[in-house]
Amino acid sequence: MSISATARDAATVGDATALEARARRLAMQFSASGARDILTTAIRQEFPGKIALVSSFGAESAALLHLVAEIDPATPVIFLDTEKHFAQTLSYRKKLARQLGLTNIQDIHPDTEEIAARDPDGDLWKRDADACCTLRKVVPLKGALNGFDAWITGRKQFHGGGRVNLPAFEASGEHIKVNPLIRWAPSDVEDYVAAHDLPPHPLVEQGYPSIGCWPCTHPAAADDDVRAGRWRGAAKTECGIHTSAI
Ligand code: SF4
Repeated sequence: MSISATARDAATVGDATALEARARRLAMQFSASGARDILTTAIRQEFPGKIALVSSFGAESAALLHLVAEIDPATPVIFLDTEKHFAQTLSYRKKLARQLGLTNIQDIHPDTEEIAARDPDGDLWKRDADACCTLRKVVPLKGALNGFDAWITGRKQFHGGGRVNLPAFEASGEHIKVNPLIRWAPSDVEDYVAAHDLPPHPLVEQGYPSIGCWPCTHPAAADDDVRAGRWRGAAKTECGIHTSAI
């Protein structure tokens, strides 16, 4: 595939109009490309040294982490440690990092003073889940992405909701988001994991098809949407890192 180099973009990242144009150009250029092509171009050619993967080390995370590790194991991997993760997620994060040889995982915590001021008892999720996600995910991610031009997500069109029309590249705030797995179906994830003998998240066998913080994640029935167990019973479907301009 011929690559349009970053150098041809006259404007710098940070200029909203130029960012939108760059994202649109890349989305069109890679509209029929596979995940590995998209990732290789993003990591090595479009945003070298300026791109991070943001991973929850959840149920579907292993495939994307493996793809990134094969391209460059030193790619920064941002893990938002909300301090509300299942213990199984924290142990899985360590196991996968070791197995895949990822050398630059960055555990990002919420600000201690902000937690003391806004969520001293750790139960903000019960009263205002949006505020809790902002405090523990959105604000920390904004800080962690300072200095990066782009970040990689594992979102897929089959997740539904606002994800059904996702492009491979999109402008968001001062960054470009790279979504290499948009066209993957559940069977593609399963096939990739099996082909590369990747370990499953330990909660998958307990009926959790999508895994976030323990207070807001529940098992789902086999015929439920994959994200049905997230914020069960609430209108909320996203934590905010993909609906804010980050
Ligand atoms: S998912 Fe739940 S516990 Fe985690 S940050 Fe959001 S509201 Fe808080």
